[in-house]
Amino acid sequence: MRPFTYSRANDWSAATSALADGDVSPLGGGTDLIPLIREGRAAPGSLIDLRGIPEATSISWSNGGVQIGAAVTLRQLATDKAVIEAYPMLSEACGAVGSYALRHMGTIGGNICQRIRCWYFRHGHECLRTGGSHCSAEIGENQYHAIFRTGPCVVAHPSDPAVALVALEAVVHVQSAQGQREIPIADFFLTSRDRLDGETALQPGEVVTGIMLPAHSSGGTQFFEKVMQRAAWDFALVSIAGIKRRDGEVRLVLGGVANTPWRVTDSIEEDVASGGLAEDDIETLAQRALYDAEPLSGNAYKLDVAAGLLRRAITTLVA
Ligand SMILES: Cc1cc2nc3c(=O)[nH]c(=O)nc-3n(C[C@H](O)[C@H](O)[C@H](O)COP(=O)(O)OP(=O)(O)OC[C@H]3O[C@@H](n4cnc5c(N)ncnc54)[C@H](O)[C@@H]3O)c2cc1C
Repeated sequence: MRPFTYSRANDWSAATSALADGDVSPLGGGTDLIPLIREGRAAPGSLIDLRGIPEATSISWSNGGVQIGAAVTLRQLATDKAVIEAYPMLSEACGAVGSYALRHMGTIGGNICQRIRCWYFRHGHECLRTGGSHCSAEIGENQYHAIFRTGPCVVAHPSDPAVALVALEAVVHVQSAQGQREIPIADFFLTSRDRLDGETALQPGEVVTGIMLPAHSSGGTQFFEKVMQRAAWDFALVSIAGIKRRDGEVRLVLGGVANTPWRVTDSIEEDVASGGLAEDDIETLAQRALYDAEPLSGNAYKLDVAAGLLRRAITTLVA
């Protein structure tokens, strides 16, 4: 393990100046970064802790929407009364992450920037992301991997909150020494077709400063459910976030099935929004949503799990 130095930023300008160096990684709770360093999958010369930046640790409301600082913890989001009222699916998704200790330490910025969980990658075996010529999971152990092919690596995205954030049409606020930009969450997560050395649209030197949830996604009917192999402290086999907004629009997003959170097609969302669906119609929509899935040798069971979650979410949204 390469030795690294640690410092704490008190404002975003100090953080982005430090990150401009190139050999520095932003630090949230460290629940992913420290294991990555230990496993040899990351080797920064320095860590810059974001948790001393006041804006990074606050939740502020304006015009019915909310700005969440990147270093707000998952526990805060799972328990904040105003967030529970306006964006219950986000609270539930954050409350479904790992264990109490992880939610206490883990930040929302770190959660959406966490690296993938494929065992071949994490343990340094040959794979596309460790410099190899093929995806070992595609022909090897792949029971937790993707059922939609979004690139040559078949890993499934690990974040629960990401699934809710895509359904809520969040906007990610990003800053570097060069300036600021906003990235719609759907463009924030990249597939392995886009890049193999990371999973986000962040450029070197950029840091997530916060996440904005729009007013149009607050309230309405919201649904989140996560299926795990065991009852707690586990990543999703499949998860789903669904919303029928106050303006009648529907968003349905699956987790654990692709390189990124997977939004089902517009036409299915429109059919759910139009309502008046009988049980047979809901079944047909659930099957249609999975039509393009191509399960691997060990994960065809995810089709049944995803279909069950789609049925439950659609039934709730049309009720
Ligand atoms: C046993 C275990 C079980 C888990 N179960 C789940 C689960 O069920 N669901 C789930 O969603 N996750 C799960 N996780 C992942 C966990 O949620 C993440 O480790 C955590 O959310 C990361 O947050 P952090 O603040 O600790 O990030 P850190 O470890 O500090 O950082 C993670 C990565 O993001 C970068 N980073 C941090 N903050 C920023 C920022 N503001 N801008 C840009 N980059 C940044 C870091 O440089 C690093 O590369 C699990 C992890 C473990 C170890």
